[in-house]
Amino acid sequence: MTERVGTEPSIFTRILRGEIPSEIVLQTDDVFVIRDIAPQAPIHLLVIPKADEYADVVELAAGDPKLLASMVEVARVAASQAGAADFRLIFNTGVGAGQTVFHVHAHVLATRFGGLAEA
Ligand code: ADP
Repeated sequence: MTERVGTEPSIFTRILRGEIPSEIVLQTDDVFVIRDIAPQAPIHLLVIPKADEYADVVELAAGDPKLLASMVEVARVAASQAGAADFRLIFNTGVGAGQTVFHVHAHVLATRFGGLAEA
């Protein structure tokens, strides 16, 4: 696991604490969902574990596969709640893949009418 002692809280932890404004559209005991501030599709949600101990999905899958499964289920419910039965679920993993926030999160991308989200 990435050494995080002494690091600043992630932007998502700060949102969860209410330090940065963002509407939490869905949450469970372990996972919360917000709308992406820079949407790349008509529906663009972020599914985020409340704990920030895992930097990316590779670490999460190795360390807590049940939490990863919970994220997938929450993504399904959140997409459905937003009006999409089908959706893309994307984990940018590593700087070279465009990851900018190292608190694991899944992008849920969809359209409201079943078309393909291009992002
Ligand atoms: P990328 O920036 O390339 O998408 P990530 O996969 O790490 O990299 O995704 C971080 C996401 O967090 C971005 O889509 C960004 O728009 C989103 N984001 C950053 N700040 C906020 C915020 N305050 N509220 C909602 N979403 C945010």
